[in-house]
Amino acid sequence: MVFRSFMQQALDEARAAAARGEVPVGAVVVSPMGEVVARAGNRTRELADPTAHAEILAMRAACKALGSERLPGHDLYVTLEPCPMCASAISQARIARLYYGAADPKSGGVAHGPRVFTHPQSHHVPEVYDGIGAAEAEALLKAFFAAKR
Ligand SMILES: [Zn+2]
Repeated sequence: MVFRSFMQQALDEARAAAARGEVPVGAVVVSPMGEVVARAGNRTRELADPTAHAEILAMRAACKALGSERLPGHDLYVTLEPCPMCASAISQARIARLYYGAADPKSGGVAHGPRVFTHPQSHHVPEVYDGIGAAEAEALLKAFFAAKR
């Protein structure tokens, strides 16, 4: 099977989030058949909801579409290293593979901070692939925060 990256769609969601005044992070959930089942960008401000991160919204929509609280065999693409909350939700959703773009030394929870998947309490650990489309994701974030200052 040829590897097909869905990071461009996640980056599209990140750009759309920036246009809404949200931190530009986007996420896409892909089914075991290789189909996009959900995509989302950050909406924490719009929804006045600190949990409305792109990953959470995308997984929530995918679960709803599937009628299940778990997404076994599904892949998640996200433009930024997931935070501890999202990493925990990824584990609980039984996501098979996590592909992320930019590293997040400040708020990340996968390769930084609590490193959620390394804990024994993380009952499911996805395969993790980092640095996918990282340059583009970083450029989006830098431009967004530069404009804020
Ligand atoms: Zn998060």
